[in-house]
Amino acid sequence: MKQLQNYKWHNWSSTSNCSPERIYYPRSIHDVIAIVEAASNNKKKIRVVGAGHSFTNLVMTDEWLLSLDNLSGVKEVDYNTHTVTVYGGTRLYDLSKVLEKLDFAQENLGDINVQSIAGAISTGTHGTGIKFGSISTQVKEITFVTAGGKLLTLNEENNQEIFKASLVSLGMFGIIIEVKIRVVPSPVYRYISDHVYYPNLLKNLETYIQDNQHFEFFMFPYADQIQTKTMNPTNSSPKSTKLHQWNNLIVENYMFQAVSHLCLITPGLSRSVSRLSSKLVSKSTIDAKSYKLFATPRIVRFVEMEYGIPLKHFKEAIQEIRETIVKNQYTVHFPIECRIVKHDDIWLSPSYMRDSAYIAFHVYKGMEYRTYFRDMEAIMKKYNGRPHWGKMHQQETKDLRKMYPKWDRFIQIRQQIDPEKMFVNRYLDELFYSDERVNV
Ligand SMILES: Cc1cc2nc3c(=O)[nH]c(=O)nc-3n(C[C@H](O)[C@H](O)[C@H](O)COP(=O)(O)OP(=O)(O)OC[C@H]3O[C@@H](n4cnc5c(N)ncnc54)[C@H](O)[C@@H]3O)c2cc1C
Repeated sequence: MKQLQNYKWHNWSSTSNCSPERIYYPRSIHDVIAIVEAASNNKKKIRVVGAGHSFTNLVMTDEWLLSLDNLSGVKEVDYNTHTVTVYGGTRLYDLSKVLEKLDFAQENLGDINVQSIAGAISTGTHGTGIKFGSISTQVKEITFVTAGGKLLTLNEENNQEIFKASLVSLGMFGIIIEVKIRVVPSPVYRYISDHVYYPNLLKNLETYIQDNQHFEFFMFPYADQIQTKTMNPTNSSPKSTKLHQWNNLIVENYMFQAVSHLCLITPGLSRSVSRLSSKLVSKSTIDAKSYKLFATPRIVRFVEMEYGIPLKHFKEAIQEIRETIVKNQYTVHFPIECRIVKHDDIWLSPSYMRDSAYIAFHVYKGMEYRTYFRDMEAIMKKYNGRPHWGKMHQQETKDLRKMYPKWDRFIQIRQQIDPEKMFVNRYLDELFYSDERVNV
């Protein structure tokens, strides 16, 4: 089994970095169990990294880090139940390619597909669509190696309570080695990127949400032009997405990178750049297999905060966001991404028991973001927002406990599964067990 020492690790956005004593790359479940047993004997803590695409210190450790990059791929396909069992380290883009050959697809994805399946589930990663929950809701069965070095397999039937607690558990229940997920016959979607004038978006918001299988919009600060994206099933045959991807790469990545750099050097330009960008985003229509349309490349690096608020507050919240931005004149040019997620019953899911609007704030890497995020977070809190676990936020234990009715029971179960806190790092300790946040 590969292992590295004196390794310097950082996440995608370089907002979290650490020097783990060791990083292990197990090739089998047997390897994973052996590492956990050795950690237990040596009183070491373990964190697991997926693709390192969370913005917070979830993965951070100076003890042992595990990557399941060598424990990936599809283990089993069940054509009768439309389920596939995959290893925890499987990247979503690899899964999509295998599923495509089987004429299956994941019913929904976020806007990138580089995450590992276990990492995506652990933070409640989501896409958009009023009929679709987060990726965690696609899980039918999940298997952990726990702190005792034992296998723990959970599903609706054998242990519903712990199952619901485990589906968004930030790596605190152990190492996810296998996941069985629901898949759907691979659909062809018509993707439409369009522009709409803000007052018309507000007027027709409910229709956009209800009448489209997948709907999201991008609201550029200081601009009245909104970019909408919709995806709906079509009977047309799928076309090549090469041009679409090329366009996306040039306009939404390389061109945006160039203007972002200008804003970094001259922040005062941000407002004009934002207005200009809102006009330049492409209008396009394309028919293709769903998995080719959900995800887009993200070359431009940024920091991000995202909150899920009850859907009923969506309009008031976006109106207040726009007014606050204009009032306070932040130097920000990245669009605010707005999506919809169906309610679920996963204990620590931000969509727990409520249909939600997710509102995501981005700032170009290196630019000042703290004041903007602080003020936007205050608006999100006012509308009972719950933060995305993989993105930046300033909530403390006392706030989080109020947000999640099953919080205390979650803590009890975590305690039973891992009494020595083998899988809890300093960041999680602060988030779950203290009222003083130092790490962001
Ligand atoms: C450019 C970009 C775009 C994004 N787009 C979206 C989006 O559209 N929608 C959305 O909801 N989020 C989005 N995110 C956030 C991202 O999906 C989540 O942070 C996700 O958790 C990252 O997956 P990962 O594999 O990188 O996991 P990591 O960030 O590496 O880990 C996340 C958590 O999972 C745990 N973990 C990982 N593997 C295992 C395992 N095998 N067993 C136990 N625990 C494990 C880690 O310990 C950690 O707590 C985006 C992030 C970036 C950088």
